[in-house]
Amino acid sequence: NHLKKHFPQKAGIFKRTKNYVRAVDGISFEINEEETFSLVGESGCGKSTTGRSILRLHEPTSGEILYQGKDILDYSKRDFRGLRKDLQMIFQDPYSSLNPRMTVKNLLLEPLLTHKVCSKKEASARVFDIAEKVGLTRQQVDKHPHEFSGGQRQRISIARALILNPKVVILDEAVSALDVSIQAQILNLLIDLQDELKLTYLFISHDLNVVRHVSDRVGVMYLGQMMEMAETDDLYNEPLHPYTKSLLSAIPSTDPTIKKERIILQGDVPDPSNPPSGCPFRLRCPKALERCSLEKPTYQEVKANHWVACHLYDSPKADVNESEKEEQ
Ligand code: SF4
Ligand code: MG
Repeated sequence: NHLKKHFPQKAGIFKRTKNYVRAVDGISFEINEEETFSLVGESGCGKSTTGRSILRLHEPTSGEILYQGKDILDYSKRDFRGLRKDLQMIFQDPYSSLNPRMTVKNLLLEPLLTHKVCSKKEASARVFDIAEKVGLTRQQVDKHPHEFSGGQRQRISIARALILNPKVVILDEAVSALDVSIQAQILNLLIDLQDELKLTYLFISHDLNVVRHVSDRVGVMYLGQMMEMAETDDLYNEPLHPYTKSLLSAIPSTDPTIKKERIILQGDVPDPSNPPSGCPFRLRCPKALERCSLEKPTYQEVKANHWVACHLYDSPKADVNESEKEEQ
């Protein structure tokens, strides 16, 4: 709820005032149990910082992170460690997150022993069980990470994240470094594991094709703010926000009879330490109105479960129809 993470920017030697990079700038969303909620947007839009804030790898500047009704930011660091079992993260590069000197078995045992969740004997049984679930054999468990391909290493990281029986898994670009054919295998594995283990996923990715394949709902971020959020089919079939429309126009259509017009955005993403007034997207928005520089659009639910922050959708309702007509 209204989550913010502002990083102080190193000020120059003669500069007294500190600038803040507004990496996450007041976003709110919910993730329902056992669903996959995805955050998309260009790199630097704050999606990873959001994921990391939920695990308190960054301490948020302000806002709330409610988990099972309690704000996890109210937990002391020590009490939060107990909760960390429930909340796990899988990163893009499995190589850098796996200690190369340890065997897979020891990599998987380590979280169990650190959190003291079971006896040593039970721990070994759990290692073989989770290894099998992610598609690794008993023999492979005695090997080291470098003996595996990228896809298999990602299976090891998945096993390591799941061995503590978490409830929520945050996947930050978890398949982005893999070849497309391997991506599909890992995504299908993640979908199967979610079903079997009743997991809730926060899926962070810049890849809109992958996101469409895995998500129940999607949130689109720009400059640390949420531009649009909807159920997956709704978002992909009827995007409302000009930014979402431009992102989706860049995905090649799988149906050759449908001609898509690519919306090319002008300019670059503005400096997050000095965001524009009004709508954060206005400097690149092909639909910008005069009021877009004066007033920040309210983030509002314009259809059931479909939220958008854009003046084109300000009520009264007649305006919405007008703006849609204009576009056609
Ligand atoms: Fe574009 Fe204005 Fe909507 Fe922002 S509020 S996305 S600038 S039309
Ligand atoms: Mg990132």
